[in-house]
Amino acid sequence: MSVEDVQRRLKALGYTIGTAGPNRDGVDGDFGRLSQLATLAALVKGAPAPADAPSPPPGTSATKPSSVPASWMPAALIKGIVVHWTAGAHRASALDRSHYHLLIEADGKLVRGTPSIDLNDARGLKSGYAAHTLKCNSGFIGVSLCCMAGAVESPFKAGPHPMTRAQWDELPAVLADLCRRYDVPITPRTVLSHAEVQGTLGITQRGKWDISRLAFDPSVVGAKAVGDLFRKRAAALLANPSEA
Ligand SMILES: [Zn+2]
Repeated sequence: MSVEDVQRRLKALGYTIGTAGPNRDGVDGDFGRLSQLATLAALVKGAPAPADAPSPPPGTSATKPSSVPASWMPAALIKGIVVHWTAGAHRASALDRSHYHLLIEADGKLVRGTPSIDLNDARGLKSGYAAHTLKCNSGFIGVSLCCMAGAVESPFKAGPHPMTRAQWDELPAVLADLCRRYDVPITPRTVLSHAEVQGTLGITQRGKWDISRLAFDPSVVGAKAVGDLFRKRAAALLANPSEA
């Protein structure tokens, strides 16, 4: 955990850590006096009750801290996000990381891909950009769940590396962070799976079916059904970050 991660967590818990840093929210990567005091307070007494907010109902968690570190989201003109699976194993390999900006491993851990998001700027692709979606890379961030190597589309077999609920559950928070940072509205044309690109945007994708099945929930079938689910959950988080 980096100093910035600690600062974000403290902020999420309601501690005052000042207004330093690029976003003037106290998250500056410098373990200064306010951060030190807040950390000590958190150690001694746990999360403070927010002064002017009702306490969360039993069984819900406190405000979820941001999932995507601010330093992973450099300035760029971004139009949308395409969600994939890697068709690889449960951990992100170097090859997996070369294709996407962000990857979510089977245990829900977020991994940064090799290409930086700003290389896929909508004003022009830059050398080394993430080539994640055929003819749809300019202005589009690629997020991928690490899973589904050896899967078969029909009849459906998830294979030896099935998508896990943990990585699926992490996806909405990642999407919400990206949408907030880059002012991307959550619509079927701006936040969509690779499997939806051909039908929704009309860009041929040579039979890509990520993501049209959820290995842990056979009742959800089809790219639109899957896309509608992650859009709904991401939109709820965007509207109310405490609904983790
Ligand atoms: Zn894909």
